Amino acid sequence: MPITTPPVYRRPDLPPRVRIWEVGPRDGLQHEPSVVPAAVKAELVTRLVASGLSTVEVTSFVNPSWVPQLADAEEVYSLLEPLLVRADGPRLPALVPNMAGLERATACGVRDVCVFVSATETFARRNLNRSRDEALAMSVPVVAGARAAGMGVRAYASMCFGDPWEGEVAPDDVVSVCTRLLDMGCDQVSLGDTIGVATSGQVIDLLDALARAGIGEDRLAVHFHDTYGQALTNTMTALSNGITTVDASAGGIGGCPFAKGATGNLATEDLCWALAGAGIETGVDLGGLVETSAWMASVLGRPSPSNVVRALGAALAGDARGVDAAEEEA
Ligand code: MG
Repeated sequence: MPITTPPVYRRPDLPPRVRIWEVGPRDGLQHEPSVVPAAVKAELVTRLVASGLSTVEVTSFVNPSWVPQLADAEEVYSLLEPLLVRADGPRLPALVPNMAGLERATACGVRDVCVFVSATETFARRNLNRSRDEALAMSVPVVAGARAAGMGVRAYASMCFGDPWEGEVAPDDVVSVCTRLLDMGCDQVSLGDTIGVATSGQVIDLLDALARAGIGEDRLAVHFHDTYGQALTNTMTALSNGITTVDASAGGIGGCPFAKGATGNLATEDLCWALAGAGIETGVDLGGLVETSAWMASVLGRPSPSNVVRALGAALAGDARGVDAAEEEA
């Protein structure tokens, strides 16, 4: 009899409930080499919502020539309209880099937007071709406009732990960027380990520095990458230090743009297995989520990098060979 749910051992140091901020359709697909049709993207979002994810980041209103993978943002939202207009429906945020992006999102009826800023100077210049201060200044009218329209506003701070050009990132740099993002009106800042180099002690150190600066855990989320296999450990460490919102990507889709061939985002399924084992409520039906990610992997033409998608997919399919292989891997 294959095990399809983990045995539950509650941990008093972890929160009873965690909000998963699903980023796969946006953060995952923007790093995929192939362009997925709008109808498939809309189906992915719909299936993720059906599996119990209450927040699914859909796409990005960036200049289509920068990210051709997400050039069809309007079409995807029009396909998602039945979900988008439901008063008790899921949150379906989009990334908006500037005022033009905010206008496009507004026209689509989007109710939650996200801005992004680098914690480091070099990445700000490399990624957005402007200084960190210029990028922060550019976010001010976007955040104000979104707030005035009654939207929820999240900020992504990238390179919070390490930067490929600058090396280790000083906590003070992250504190200063987070303070400015929250002061300008963002509800929450997601702390990104864009190159996946952080280890758990560094996570505790940064959260301590943010707390000393008066930034509470309720204003923060974490966004870890699995480049060095640390994403889940770092996430669990953040949860035991007060964080309750976690970013993850269904099936672990999306590579790391700075480490060829490396795994990118933390897989939502791997996270859900760990949370289920700790008795933490997420609202997610793990079996349904695995089915969706297995389907998406077949669309993308390669196996999911998520351990849980591979192991549980085989176990749920009753594939004896698959189960054996999963057990051997474990
Ligand atoms: Mg990511």
